Amino acid sequence: MFRNFKMISNVVFGRGCFNQLDDILKLRRDNGTSWVVFVVDDVFQNRLIKKRLPLHSKDMLLWVNVKDEPKTSYVDQLTLKVHNFSRKFPVAVVGIGGGSTMDLAKALSLMLTNPGYSHAYQGWDLIKNPAIYHIAVPTLSGTGAEVSRTTVLTGPEKKLGINSDYTVFDQVVLDPELIRDVPPDQRFYTGMDCYIHCIESLQGTYINEFSRSYGEKALELCRSVFLNSDSQLDANRAKADDQLMMASFFGGMSIAYSQVGACHALSYGLSYVLGTHHGIGCSIAFDALEEIYPEGVKEFRAMMKINNIELPRNLTKNMDKDDMDKMINVSMGLTPLWENCLGKDWQNIMTKAKMKSLFKRM
Ligand code: NAD
Ligand code: ZN
Repeated sequence: MFRNFKMISNVVFGRGCFNQLDDILKLRRDNGTSWVVFVVDDVFQNRLIKKRLPLHSKDMLLWVNVKDEPKTSYVDQLTLKVHNFSRKFPVAVVGIGGGSTMDLAKALSLMLTNPGYSHAYQGWDLIKNPAIYHIAVPTLSGTGAEVSRTTVLTGPEKKLGINSDYTVFDQVVLDPELIRDVPPDQRFYTGMDCYIHCIESLQGTYINEFSRSYGEKALELCRSVFLNSDSQLDANRAKADDQLMMASFFGGMSIAYSQVGACHALSYGLSYVLGTHHGIGCSIAFDALEEIYPEGVKEFRAMMKINNIELPRNLTKNMDKDDMDKMINVSMGLTPLWENCLGKDWQNIMTKAKMKSLFKRM
């Protein structure tokens, strides 16, 4: 069976297009009682963008904290807050932030219309009712969360997305001005998430012309941004931000119709046991995967050098056996990722002992 891929319905792209958000929402604000909930990364509490939010008098502003990556318990708290705010549903949920905030906005829009706790929906196509209309405004580029059909959540038992067609955003607002002030290390790590999406998709056994078309373009854009020291100069920064935002979008489109691979599988283990964030976790795992992705790792190291990045080391040095086993089990459980990377016979190649030796190098 071929996947019938649900895409986002509307996209607006351009420097300053954030100013169009009010017009976009106007089409939803049907009468005097309708309202919108804004889910905004609290890093912006003291920044200019706060003043630019197109808030109307009945709207709700939810500041969210993403120090920890999104948990199902946090989604449930936010859902309750919104239910308590009004008996009527909002006409739109707008997520403004990086991958974590976009995922929280997606999850909230789903949980407002689906009963019970969010952990019950971690998996594939378990959502029954359509979500509230939801909009993404990325302020950090790389994850591809703006185009994907998942919202990645850590629940009581597992780290797994709520994957469904209803998860996909209805509208995306791509304004590259919004990523200008991301701290350099964060920009690099989230950018590398995109680079790694491309490598894993293009080098995987699931590759097809749909994914290749998007993946090759995204890879070209990543190279332009991260392999070229001039792209960091003020004069070139606007172009680099435009490119990075489109790389994230295209990288997300590429993996949507193929799959990620070994690096993402290992990074999920790191994240589950050590709480390592996605971008940095992928970077640390990728650096240990020279054997599987020789060209990609070589290029990644060149990018680190050009961008003055020092990876954290010795993450697993003092880890006890239980934690190591947990990490291996979480990672081993991601069958499609391993199959994409190493083929049907992956279990004979990626043994537990092999995986342990990889984790030991991180
Ligand atoms: P993030 O959203 O976790 O944010 C990282 C840090 O950057 C935070 O401190 C945040 O406050 C800050 N930040 C965001 N925008 C900023 C800005 N403009 N200026 C200054 N600081 C800013 O980072 P991320 O790498 O974009 O997202 C990672 C998350 O995305 C993880 O939770 C991961 O699981 C998820 N993810 C989701 C998908 C998906 O398809 N849904 C794909 C990959 C990753
Ligand atoms: Zn990723």
